[in-house]
Amino acid sequence: MAERIIIIGAGVIGAASALALQQDDHDILLVDREAPCAGASFGNAGVIVNDSCAPTAMPGILFDVIRMIGQPLPPVSIRPAYFHKILPWLIRFIWQSRTAAVTNNAIHLYALSKHAVKSWRQLIDKSKLSSVLEETGWLKVYELQKTFNATSKARVLMDAIGTQYQVLTGEQIRDLEPNLAPIFNVGLYQEDCLRIVNPHRLVAGMVDLFVSRGGEYRQFSVEMIKVANETVSLSGPGGVLVANRVLIAAGAWSRTLARLCGDNVPLDTERGYHLMLPESTRSLLNGPVVNGESSFVLSPMEMGIRISGQIEFAGLTATPNYARMRSLLPAAKRMLPDLDTHEESVWMGCRPSLPDSLPVLGFASNTHQVLYAFGHQHLGMTLGAITGLVIADLVAGRKPVMDVSPYRPNRF
Ligand SMILES: Cc1cc2nc3c(=O)[nH]c(=O)nc-3n(C[C@H](O)[C@H](O)[C@H](O)COP(=O)(O)OP(=O)(O)OC[C@H]3O[C@@H](n4cnc5c(N)ncnc54)[C@H](O)[C@@H]3O)c2cc1C
Repeated sequence: MAERIIIIGAGVIGAASALALQQDDHDILLVDREAPCAGASFGNAGVIVNDSCAPTAMPGILFDVIRMIGQPLPPVSIRPAYFHKILPWLIRFIWQSRTAAVTNNAIHLYALSKHAVKSWRQLIDKSKLSSVLEETGWLKVYELQKTFNATSKARVLMDAIGTQYQVLTGEQIRDLEPNLAPIFNVGLYQEDCLRIVNPHRLVAGMVDLFVSRGGEYRQFSVEMIKVANETVSLSGPGGVLVANRVLIAAGAWSRTLARLCGDNVPLDTERGYHLMLPESTRSLLNGPVVNGESSFVLSPMEMGIRISGQIEFAGLTATPNYARMRSLLPAAKRMLPDLDTHEESVWMGCRPSLPDSLPVLGFASNTHQVLYAFGHQHLGMTLGAITGLVIADLVAGRKPVMDVSPYRPNRF
């Protein structure tokens, strides 16, 4: 039966859910307190990594982080003023790095990510947006065998779960990316991925497509949610909105909204950054390349090469520290000697993350009038389309392609 459904959040997750729910003829209102794609979906590295399975909390993560203490701008950092706030999350995160928990989390991440490419095709292939996605591989390069060897646990996990990859020699790396300096001796390559040539154009375009198909978009900040017998009402400075159901897809800001619906979810943010280089740089790479030593990504986009990375625990409101990205420019230039490192723009975004690297996906604990789709951490672009399709299945009463119980809000 067609229903009136309000989706909170016009990032990739809200936009994908809007398109998927619309296919079932529901009456959808998509709201965001800002313009579409103002959050993490705006500035990511733009890679859809099919079959991704390694959670962020891997065995040994605690020691990896301790080793970074004292480095001037390490790839993972905690702002001292936020330490006491993030501590409970970090304790849970470290608990999730036990081998048994890692395997479990990897299985449930893979259950979603194995549908990544297929689900994106299913959601947007019949629209002109399909040109924003290009086939690519996901290449990680290492100068030192020692650094590569230190990532062996991820490969053991990938072998166990079934994620396909190849280990490349320096020569094979240069065959794929001739402009890379000949300093990389070993690489890891996953085929069958997609790159988004402009993540903002993709997500804003999805909202436009949704509206052109009869959906409604409204700028509206949700401050209160009340669930009654047959209706859900949302209120904020813009007034009151009423629907049969609501989907909370507000990324890193979803925790407070879920709490209003009775679920206390340990969601926090792993902030990340990007720095854009001039448009002329875009042809230097054929696909995204991860620097395995310094943990950043170079993504060729239609606007130029985007350098992205960093994990910073500092909450939702602290001022960005763009020095984090600027400090990576010498390493980027070392990778690509022809790189023009003139800074076009910088950006900070809030990855929505739970300690087990799994999203919250499905109905609220106490009511089927509220659904959740948030917490996609480093993989929201990868998992956007499959998330939308799963939400549509749940609303329609169809069985999704995977068991969604591992993603329930009260699993902690
Ligand atoms: C540096 C970086 C690189 C990344 N690279 C990749 C990558 O290559 N591949 C990949 O798969 N993922 C990547 N990610 C992760 C990915 O970007 C995120 O997981 C994804 O964008 C999250 O999407 P979302 O829709 O949940 O949240 P968002 O895009 O943050 O959207 C949430 C929206 O909710 C709105 N909102 C919040 N509160 C309210 C409210 N109360 N009322 C109304 N609206 C509200 C916000 O304004 C926002 O527009 C990267 C992230 C970063 C930071």
